[in-house]
Amino acid sequence: MGVFADHQPMFVEVETTTYCNRRCSYCPNSIYERGSRANEVRMPTELFEKVVTDLGGNNFCMQFSPHRYGEPLADPRMPDLLDLARAAMPLARIALYTNGDFLNPDLFDRLNRSVDAFVITQHGDTMPAGVRQTLDRFGGQHPKIRYKTAQDIQAQASNRAGIIPISYTRRSACGVVMNELHINAHGDLMLCCEDYLGKKTFGNIRDVTIEEAWNMPERMAVHRANVRGEFALDQCLSCGYGRMF
Ligand code: SF4
Ligand code: SF4
Repeated sequence: MGVFADHQPMFVEVETTTYCNRRCSYCPNSIYERGSRANEVRMPTELFEKVVTDLGGNNFCMQFSPHRYGEPLADPRMPDLLDLARAAMPLARIALYTNGDFLNPDLFDRLNRSVDAFVITQHGDTMPAGVRQTLDRFGGQHPKIRYKTAQDIQAQASNRAGIIPISYTRRSACGVVMNELHINAHGDLMLCCEDYLGKKTFGNIRDVTIEEAWNMPERMAVHRANVRGEFALDQCLSCGYGRMF
C-alpha cells in the first residue's frame, strides 16, 4: 500500500437542514424556495451518525462542517449532532459556519465542547444581539471565533455555478471534486459546494460507505476531466469558483 493510499477530503460538508432564515441576494436561497421552512428537509439523525462514524473509522483528520445552504443553528439538534461528530471523529477539525442569528452565550458554551472553529458571517446591517453578548463575555473576541461581514462575502462572491447573475471569470481547471465531499440533507453525494440544485450527484450515502463514495470511479472521471479543464458538465462550464488546491 502506497504512502498516499489514505488521501482524504480536505473538507467534508454535511447538510443537516435545508432551512435558512435569510434570503441573501448573493445566495441561491434568494432565488429558489429550497431553503424555505415549508420545504425544509432534515437529514435523519441516524444517517448523520452513519456519515461521521464512517469518517471516524477512516481516521478523518481534516475539516468537517455541518451545513450546506441551510443555517445549521436553525436545526435544534445541532449541539447533539456535533457531540456525535466529535465523539466519532476525534481527529477532525469541526468548523461551524453560521449567520449567527440563533447564537447566544448559552448555546455557544454548549457548542464549544465539540466545535474547533466558529465562522460567523453577519448578513444584516448589525451584529446579531446574541453574537454581541457572546463576544462581550470574552472582551470582544474569542480565539475560536472568526467574524465576517456580508461585504467580505460579496468581495469574493461566487456565481454558484451559473445561478447567481454576477460577472465571473471562467476557470481554467478545477480540483474541487477530489478535495471535498458534500452530502445534502437527503444523503445525496453532491458534485461540489457550488452545485446548489444538485444537477449532478453520485448516488446516496445510504447505499455506500464513505470510502466507496470517495473512491467512486464516476467521481474520479469527473475529477480527471476537471483538473485538465476539460469540463463536461454545464455547471462547471459556467462556474466562477472552480479552483485548484
Ligand atoms: S444566511 Fe447564508 S445560507 Fe442563508 S441565505 Fe444568507 S448566504 Fe444563504
Ligand atoms: S468547476 Fe465549479 S461546479 Fe464544477 S466541480 Fe468545480 S466548483 Fe463545482
